[in-house]
Amino acid sequence: MQRSEHFASPGVVYRTTCENPGCGHTFDLRITAKEAGLLAGTMACPRCRRHGGMLKRMGRLDDRLFVAKLVYKMIGVGASSSSDDGDLLSDIR
Ligand SMILES: [Zn+2]
Repeated sequence: MQRSEHFASPGVVYRTTCENPGCGHTFDLRITAKEAGLLAGTMACPRCRRHGGMLKRMGRLDDRLFVAKLVYKMIGVGASSSSDDGDLLSDIR
């Protein structure tokens, strides 16, 4: 038995490029409202498996398709971002 998922929100897809030097892997990250917490935290690249990557949205390709980068902060560098972090969740419905 499975419920019809066609009516549920499929979330959005982030076409994400890993910024880890030497990696540069691009992958599609699907984020639904259930996984929206990923946007606020950090995640690991599925290829180089480096942890601590932060999803940074670069632009919109389509209604539910965004371009993003997985950026890694150097340890010890003070935080200066959070300029546009506020609207990351607003596109997920
Ligand atoms: Zn990587």
